[in-house]
Amino acid sequence: MEKPQAQIAKPSFWEQDIWYKPFDVLIVGGGIVGLQTAQFLSADNPSLRVALIDRQFPPLGASTRNAGFACVGSLGELVDDVEAIGFDATIELVCRRVEGLRLLRATVDDQTLQYEAIANVELFRKGDEQVLTKVLESTNGGTESLLKRINAALREKLDLSFDPYSETGPKTYGSTMNSIASITNQLEGQLHPGKMIAALYRLCILRGVTCFSESVTELKHDGVALQSGRFLKARRVIVATNGFTQRLLPSVIQPALNQVIVSAPVAGLQWRAPIHLEQGYGYLRRIKDRVLVGGFRNRFKDSSETDQFQLDSDLGAHLRAVLVSVLPIHARPRIEFEWSGVLGLGTTRMPKVQQLESGIILAAGLGGMGVALGSLLGKEAAQMTLQRA
Ligand SMILES: Cc1cc2nc3c(=O)[nH]c(=O)nc-3n(C[C@H](O)[C@H](O)[C@H](O)COP(=O)(O)OP(=O)(O)OC[C@H]3O[C@@H](n4cnc5c(N)ncnc54)[C@H](O)[C@@H]3O)c2cc1C
Repeated sequence: MEKPQAQIAKPSFWEQDIWYKPFDVLIVGGGIVGLQTAQFLSADNPSLRVALIDRQFPPLGASTRNAGFACVGSLGELVDDVEAIGFDATIELVCRRVEGLRLLRATVDDQTLQYEAIANVELFRKGDEQVLTKVLESTNGGTESLLKRINAALREKLDLSFDPYSETGPKTYGSTMNSIASITNQLEGQLHPGKMIAALYRLCILRGVTCFSESVTELKHDGVALQSGRFLKARRVIVATNGFTQRLLPSVIQPALNQVIVSAPVAGLQWRAPIHLEQGYGYLRRIKDRVLVGGFRNRFKDSSETDQFQLDSDLGAHLRAVLVSVLPIHARPRIEFEWSGVLGLGTTRMPKVQQLESGIILAAGLGGMGVALGSLLGKEAAQMTLQRA
């Protein structure tokens, strides 16, 4: 006998009245961008019907799997930005990240975020001489180095009384992490990404945002299809699915895998400042007396072009070697956590909210630096939605 086809339970009158009647705004993706969009929208407009959909809560994106650097850009990275988008646009990008971080800290207090304003250090090691030259020596016939020009521009734009970036000489960490030069950045800090997302989620619930735990299978300008077969209607649809966007909107955002390890507690660690290596591709920080090491996608490009949460054993071995180098000599490098996460790379180095031809608003493509910028993108997505409502 043929089995009857599984049917979607028809909503009750009560369910329909709350969850299934049309929304004003539907946001797909509950990472930092989606959550901030939802809470900004509902904070300013309590009567709006706002829904946030993620395939699961707690969300399974980059926002709870990152390293917790509230970063605005190390100089080694900015060298590439200047070459790709020009000096003025690079300054604008850094200012946007600083503004995003300010917004995040105004939304969630520092204690909840476990925000620590520790200046980050970028280490230049043997092999990084070319990048270092671009940072420290004047180029293009000018008289000032990129470091000085960036400091001067940021002092003016951000009204700072100090130079954000300073040359701090060669440094040695742990047993064998030696550098030929280092640059300290005072605009950055570090936080607890899980606490950040949990706090933003609580805020959304408090503000009356309706949250659905389900995968979206199709986007339309007037709503979204869910895996259960239901269709949720809305006047506006915002997509904040980051590295998973290509499953819904082909070829707009490319996924890139990042891998992270965290050691067991280590006695006798002598350093505290978060560290950037290889133009920001590699990163290390302390979580109390543990050490987190992650990144180095630059060395393992082929295996990183995926949105599957896999672990690359060669990359894992590299992360372990970096970990050993920053531990005190003879310390045992015990790894207690190892995970991967997917970031989303847009077509430009300047992530901005955009309205697609279909009318859908896309807020995605923050790359490896979304913790600071994510809140600003959320705010801008909310503003664009209200302008066009
Ligand atoms: C390992 C790693 C380390 C990083 N370290 C740092 C760092 O130290 N500092 C920093 O600034 N940035 C870092 N980043 C980048 C940063 O985490 C991201 O830029 C940022 O979190 C992006 O936020 P988002 O809201 O755009 O996306 P995400 O947090 O990825 O959220 C997207 C959400 O969409 C949901 N989703 C996807 N598809 C669907 C669907 N079809 N239906 C329903 N829901 C869906 C997912 O479940 C996910 O929750 C790191 C990223 C990774 C992966």
